[in-house]
Amino acid sequence: MAEVRADFAPYRDEIRDCTCLLCGEVACALSDVRDFGGRRHLAACVALLGALMAGEHVRRSYAEMAAEAREAKAVRLAEAEAAGASPATLAAIERGYAKYAGFMVDGIGAGMTPGGVR
Ligand SMILES: [Zn+2]
Repeated sequence: MAEVRADFAPYRDEIRDCTCLLCGEVACALSDVRDFGGRRHLAACVALLGALMAGEHVRRSYAEMAAEAREAKAVRLAEAEAAGASPATLAAIERGYAKYAGFMVDGIGAGMTPGGVR
C-alpha cells in the first residue's frame, strides 16, 4: 500500500483555533464516538487538506464566530419581538436559545425546562 502523507504542518498557523465549517467538521468527527475506524475523521481531514492546498480555506476566528452568533441572535430577537413573543421567550433568546421544531434549544441541543418559555 502506497503511503499517503497528509501534511498539515505548513498550515498549522492558518488552522489553529479556526472555527470554519471544514475545521469544525474535523473537530466534530474526531469526537464522534460512532466513527469507528475514523472514516468520518479521515474524510474531514482530506476535505480540509484539499481546501488548504487549493488555497480555498477561509479562516474564521473565534471573534468572527462570536460576531456572527451575536448578529444571528439580534435577528432572532427582532423577529420574535415583531411576532409578539412573550418576555419569557425574548429572555430565552437573549440567553442564547433558539427555536427548533417548536422547542427552545441552546447550542448543544439541550432544551429548556417545560414552562420556561410561553
Ligand atoms: Zn478552518
